[in-house]
Amino acid sequence: MRRSHVDAAGVLHEWDDELAGEAWDHGPLILSWADVCADLEDPDAGFCVAVHEMAHKLDVLDGELDGTPPLPSAWYRQWARDFQRAYDAFCAEVDAGRETTIDPYAAEAPEEFFAVCTEYHFSAPEVLEEAMPEVAAHLARFYGPSPMGAG
Ligand SMILES: [Zn+2]
Repeated sequence: MRRSHVDAAGVLHEWDDELAGEAWDHGPLILSWADVCADLEDPDAGFCVAVHEMAHKLDVLDGELDGTPPLPSAWYRQWARDFQRAYDAFCAEVDAGRETTIDPYAAEAPEEFFAVCTEYHFSAPEVLEEAMPEVAAHLARFYGPSPMGAG
């Protein structure tokens, strides 16, 4: 299970049993080589630590690590509404102990939800499309089409 916390210096730390990656607010992205290699060996598994940490970097560009990157205001409102609805529904599923196709780590916080959904966009877009079509549509608009070529 992945875990994370933001320390007193504002650095988000994340790790499995060992550290998988860190995204500093105005600093480096630190990735575990072993996790990157595991992702490369299984590119369509829905996991990608590099993509996950980059999502946090994009998220925090507006000064808030809150699951919403900087967006034009009209899109920002749609994004916030759709992500909140999907996040609430997902958390309810996880809290009820139901099996989810999306990694339950996404229920940890809105910023983790955004980062985990971003991993699916780049790695297993058909899974995200099936589970959360509105979120998948926002991410396809934000990042462009998935390199894994689903739609
Ligand atoms: Zn994270």
